[in-house]
Amino acid sequence: MSEAVAVIHDNRLRAIRRRHPWVFSGAIMRLDGDPAPGDLVTVTDGTGEFLARGYWNPHSDIRIRLVTWREDESLDEAFWRDRLSRAIAGRHVENRIHELGTANAYRLVNAESDGIPGLVVDRYGDWLVVQALTLGIAERKDMLADLLVELLSPAGIYERSDVDVRQKEGLAPETGVLRGEAPPELIEIDENGRRFLVDVRQGHKTGFYLDQRENRAIIGDWFRSDERASQRTVLNAFAYTGGFAVYALGSLVKRVINVDSSAEALALARRNVALNGYRTDDDDFVEGDVFQVLRYYRDAGQQFDMIILDPPKFAQSPRQVENAARGYKDINLMAFRLLRPGGLLATFSCSGAVTADLFQKIVFSAVLDAGREAQIIRWLAQAPDHPVALTFPEGGYLKGLLCRVW
Ligand code: SAH
Repeated sequence: MSEAVAVIHDNRLRAIRRRHPWVFSGAIMRLDGDPAPGDLVTVTDGTGEFLARGYWNPHSDIRIRLVTWREDESLDEAFWRDRLSRAIAGRHVENRIHELGTANAYRLVNAESDGIPGLVVDRYGDWLVVQALTLGIAERKDMLADLLVELLSPAGIYERSDVDVRQKEGLAPETGVLRGEAPPELIEIDENGRRFLVDVRQGHKTGFYLDQRENRAIIGDWFRSDERASQRTVLNAFAYTGGFAVYALGSLVKRVINVDSSAEALALARRNVALNGYRTDDDDFVEGDVFQVLRYYRDAGQQFDMIILDPPKFAQSPRQVENAARGYKDINLMAFRLLRPGGLLATFSCSGAVTADLFQKIVFSAVLDAGREAQIIRWLAQAPDHPVALTFPEGGYLKGLLCRVW
């Protein structure tokens, strides 16, 4: 049985030659053969010249996810073992991530950017949590799980394929134990010496915002050498399970107020603060809508020395960018107004469709309207265990600015 061949329109060859891993339906001129969903197909130009190979999904607009541009490479188990090994080797020295910190929770495989479109593997202590985001990966899930056991000997592998993007691939959500033992209800992880409880079954993403690890260290530790740390009040907006709060409390600031709309997230934030030995006052855990809570603080005349804004993805697609921009501008404008002179705003966007350039412009227009002055002290991005392949700039989604406000 020979592999089906997808022939590409002449004017769509460039992206494939430049090794972009996505082939959209409109790029395909002709399909020779009858591939089953998830099967490998060969991609050629109109003259039959080999370009690449990847997995086929007739249900998705991204019709083919390319995995190799080498004709002599056979996509057998050894191939996948090699791809996984390379991704893993890029993360370890054991428990050190690129020498930038220590943690036993980090991303091991970052999908397209690690040459395995649609596969995410995160490590949480002795467990692995995987997401199969594409049909091609869903079909190869068992083989990949066996390889992960062989390469990493985890206590267990848990699947969290309950993400919306699966719908676009024609896939239903799937969760559960794939290999080994079921994870405990909460896994305790260590991140730069801080401890966190992670709910890998119900938590966001695979349980924790691993992509913010470095930024938690940079921002949370900001007041560490500040002699006036004990007078500083930090507002941790969109707090989730208290990641930034635990770091900031380690700098011995006076107070960190956590705001989140999710009661479950806040309950876990509280446990994480306690787990690290800090006080948990009721007033420091505020269940509410950040958009409203910021206005409440404005009306109450409350001021802060640092505000962290780490909202969820406001733009799910390029079409939503304009609305998202309004949302980002609103919270940033409010935050600028609430900061004492010399205070710090750490502001993020994890919307891939909002570029770093656009985000900076939004923050700029917010500071103008707030009537304040601000300087960028640092440009922030996702942690290095979430690498971005140069051929796949879409892989870079998290951007942030640390600003000093006057
Ligand atoms: N900074 C966190 C991650 C934040 S994720 C960390 O480092 O772990 C975004 C959080 O925003 C989620 O916990 C979600 O519950 C919360 N959220 C979403 N919309 C919100 C809103 N309008 N008001 C308050 N919280 C909101």
